[in-house]
Amino acid sequence: MNNDIHKKIEVLLPSGCSLEKVELEGPDLVVYIDKIDKFYEAENPVRDMASSMKKKIIVRAAASNLLQPDEAKKIVENLIPTEGGVQEIRFCDDFHEVWIEALKPGIVIGKGGNILKEIIKQTGWAPKILRVPTISSEVVKGIRSSLLKESATRKKFLAKTAKRIFTTQQKTTWIKSTALGGFQEVGRSSMFLQTSNDKILVDCGVNPDTTEPSVTYPYVSTLNLPVDEIDAVILTHAHLDHCGFIPYLFEMGYEGPVYMTPPTRDLMALLCFDYIKVMKRSGDTPIYGDKDVRKALAHTITRDYGEVTDITPEIKLTFHGAGHILGSAMVHLHVSDGLHNLIYTGDIKFGGTRLLNSAATVFPRVETLFIESTYGGRDDVLPTRVEAEQKLTRVIQETISKKGKVLIPVFSVGRAQEVMLVLEDYARKNKDFNVKVYLDGMVREASAIHTVYPEYLRDNIQRTILSGHSPFESPIFELVKGDRQEVTEGEPCIILAPSGMLSGGPSVTYLKLLADNPNNTLIFVGYQAVNTLGRKIQRGDREVATMGEDGRLESIKINMRVETCEGFSGHSDRRQLIAFMRNLKPKPTHIYMMHGEESKCNDLASTISKMLHVEARAPMNLDGIRLK
Ligand SMILES: [Zn+2]
Repeated sequence: MNNDIHKKIEVLLPSGCSLEKVELEGPDLVVYIDKIDKFYEAENPVRDMASSMKKKIIVRAAASNLLQPDEAKKIVENLIPTEGGVQEIRFCDDFHEVWIEALKPGIVIGKGGNILKEIIKQTGWAPKILRVPTISSEVVKGIRSSLLKESATRKKFLAKTAKRIFTTQQKTTWIKSTALGGFQEVGRSSMFLQTSNDKILVDCGVNPDTTEPSVTYPYVSTLNLPVDEIDAVILTHAHLDHCGFIPYLFEMGYEGPVYMTPPTRDLMALLCFDYIKVMKRSGDTPIYGDKDVRKALAHTITRDYGEVTDITPEIKLTFHGAGHILGSAMVHLHVSDGLHNLIYTGDIKFGGTRLLNSAATVFPRVETLFIESTYGGRDDVLPTRVEAEQKLTRVIQETISKKGKVLIPVFSVGRAQEVMLVLEDYARKNKDFNVKVYLDGMVREASAIHTVYPEYLRDNIQRTILSGHSPFESPIFELVKGDRQEVTEGEPCIILAPSGMLSGGPSVTYLKLLADNPNNTLIFVGYQAVNTLGRKIQRGDREVATMGEDGRLESIKINMRVETCEGFSGHSDRRQLIAFMRNLKPKPTHIYMMHGEESKCNDLASTISKMLHVEARAPMNLDGIRLK
């Protein structure tokens, strides 16, 4: 096959340069070109090649064209204006790339990419521009260094993956999906998709809010399948109930690709490393170690929204924005030349938030839809965002006026940033509101990752970050560095801390410190799963038990005010879920509910089947569905 591709590409080359070799790297075609400077003298050489080959094309200079790194580094430094804020230049031999980390990638790229072109023309090294977070981030630094260090392993794994993708195989005649987790429940989301040729896992999460092993992990072992027979894993977004089991697959010997968007990769690393820490702290033996998270990172293939990618000879994957958290995506799979098309939504928000654009509704084709139903129940109509924000700021003002403190338990990723934007906006518009907002746990790291990917955020937030006025850097925010008791004994303040359901982490420590005083307020802004401490307090329990530092149960009396501000959720409420399905173009013929409590999934299914005249139902874990 390589030979055919070689011939096809050769005729597409501009004159003056020549093709040294073609390599297949995962789903991409990599062409190595001798006299790379001549290649880039053509108008749009890469675009023309990609449209004619219908593949993502990566262009690299032949090894003989590469300057020594020291020499190349000087040229790169000279070519980039100082306003670009270059902080680090590193070379990746295995991929002939120069990694340039800069505060202002737009300036580094230059008008129409002219500086990038000059870099590769003059040095041979292909520039890869990485945005430096405006809040320093150990995680981002760690991920970049680890990817660079693992580049030889990555290169090998990509070649192996390409072999699988570029084989020719008989067309499949059937498609089947199996519910492995997160069906008629929230947590441990996972679905297996199989054809006569291919085996794909979509999401592979854990239920982090329970200690009962039988409901913590997805039913992957029931497939009776050696993990190395799985062709690809696809991840919708970085919440642990979708990604937390992926490193375990690597621990078990999986060595294939994991597809996700670039922000999801960074957030996944953040949350999985933390998951290990949380397991250790609570006295459990972690099911995997840091090395398995790093392995998962090294096997990640990132794709932006809208990029069509062959993940097997017969399955094309495209991510579409899901509006749920940074980088969250719906998965569209086009199987066997259109034999079947399905969408797996992951978690979606069909409605405006401060942070993200709403979930996409237009697809080339859809026959089957798997949709989340977190708030799919008959009574799950949430207040509008305006009402939610008004209530939040009103409760905060009332608490502060009594010299109390506000504790808001949040998911580090998603709700935290959404609430931060509301508070930043409120403080900017109300100059007499001088209240510190303390950020604890991973909220800061997660916010830093948001500043690396402004293009994944809503336009106005994107603009403020790009113009150097990131709302995440507002002076109202302060990171908790020292003693938490100092915060709770200090001036009236607001505290944002994970976990969002009070199932562990700093939010529980603050709860213990603040619960006794009726002037303080606990505000829930996100979904509280069944059996979590959050749900118990929310439904009215005023004496609750939690695990103390020494592993013994401690009882907490809740004298503080307890409020719920619904409407901040990153999930669609019932109206939004229904509106999403009504707006979906084209209309699917089969709809399956998932990611919701049993009654909510069933309720939404019966409503939607009547409303849209389609087959709609709520499968259970371990159910298999023949899609074709
Ligand atoms: Zn989620």
